[in-house]
Amino acid sequence: MEEQKTIEGLHYRTQRPIRINLDQGVIRSIEELKECFTPYILAPGLVDLQVNGFQGVDFNEPELEVSDVVFSVQKLWENGMTTFMPTLITASESAVSESIKIIIEACKDTLINATVTGIHLEGPFISRETGPRGAHPLEFVCEPDWDMVVRLQEVAKGKIKLITLSPEYEGAPELIEKCVGQGIQVAIGHTAAHSAQIKHAVEVGASLSTHLGNAAHLLLPRHPNYIWDQLAMDSLWTSIVSDGFHLPDPVMKVFMKTKPENTFLVSDSTKFAGLPAGTYQSPIGGTVLLTKEGRLCMQENPELLAGSAASLKSCLEYLVKANLATWSQAIDMASVKPLSYLTQKSSSIGLQAGNNADLILFEHKDSKMEIKKTLKAGKLVYSSL
Ligand SMILES: [Zn+2]
Repeated sequence: MEEQKTIEGLHYRTQRPIRINLDQGVIRSIEELKECFTPYILAPGLVDLQVNGFQGVDFNEPELEVSDVVFSVQKLWENGMTTFMPTLITASESAVSESIKIIIEACKDTLINATVTGIHLEGPFISRETGPRGAHPLEFVCEPDWDMVVRLQEVAKGKIKLITLSPEYEGAPELIEKCVGQGIQVAIGHTAAHSAQIKHAVEVGASLSTHLGNAAHLLLPRHPNYIWDQLAMDSLWTSIVSDGFHLPDPVMKVFMKTKPENTFLVSDSTKFAGLPAGTYQSPIGGTVLLTKEGRLCMQENPELLAGSAASLKSCLEYLVKANLATWSQAIDMASVKPLSYLTQKSSSIGLQAGNNADLILFEHKDSKMEIKKTLKAGKLVYSSL
C-alpha cells in the first residue's frame, strides 16, 4: 500500500481548500490553501462499531475464512470505512470462539489490525423475550457469565472491546463492573430491563445504548419503559441505525435532539449490505428480498425486516436526505463521534495535527457520497481516481 505524503481537498466542515501533510501515518500539519485544484471533500474516515457482515461475508457464519475477513475489510475501505468492529451475535460459545479465531488470524496484517479496532460481542447475555431478543437464537441466550467472557477474551487476545447485554439479569451489574475494569465497554441493548436495572447498570459503568428503539417489544407501556429510561440517562451514548427503515424520522430527530453530542450511527449491516437488489437465501429468515432502496425483508412476509442491508455510508446519506443533519454533522456522527465514544476522548480525533491519518476524499452526487480515496494510517487503501 502506497504511503501518502500529502492530500488536498475541501475541509468537510468549512468547505475551504486545505492540504494535509502526513508523516508515518499521522497528520503532521494542515495548511489552508488559497485555491485547490480538486473539487473533492476531505473528511475523517468512517467508523462503524457494529458490522455483522458486508458484501457477501458474514462474520457469524461457521464457514468464515480469513480471506473473507480480508475481502470484507477491502470492501469497507472502498465504502470509506477506516475503523470498524466485526460484531458477533448470540451463538454457541464454540461458534463465537471460532469466528473470533478467524478474525484474529486476519488481524496478523498490520493494516487490517488497525482497521479492526476491536470485536463487538452482541449477546449472548441478552433478553429472552420475543421482541427485545430480535433475531438472536433463543437457545444460546444465557445469563451473564464472566468466565465465558474471560475465555473468549483469551481467544481474542484482548481484542473484545464492546459487549452489548441486557441488565435484566441479577448477575449483570457485577459483569458490567468487571468488563469495564478490564477495558471492555458495555452497551445496553436487546433488553427488557426495568428502570431500576437500567439505572444500576449505568451506575456501574454501562455507557451506550445499542441501536436504541430497535430490538424492542412491539407494544410498550407509555411510561415508564426502557426507551425513555435510557434516553433520560445523560451519561449513556446512543447508537442508531439510520437506514430509513429501522427508525421513523421523528424518532431519530428526538433521539438526536436529546443527545446532540452523544448520538452516533451504526450500520448493523449483514452480509447483504453492498449487494445488488434481488432475492437471497439467509440463514435467518429463509428467502429474503433486497429492494433497490436497500430495504431487506422476508420475501413471504415483506412487512417484516430481515436485518440491515445498509452500509454506514448509506445511513449517513439518509440522515442528510431526510434533513435530519447537514453533511458535516452526519459525517461527524459516523466518524468522530463513535471514535470519541470508543476512546473516551474527543480531542485526539478528526482533522487535527497529531491525529491518525485516517481520511476520505469524496464527492457529493445527488445526495450520494462517492468515495474517491480512502487512507488508513496514511496508506492509500482505496482509490477510484
Ligand atoms: Zn442487535
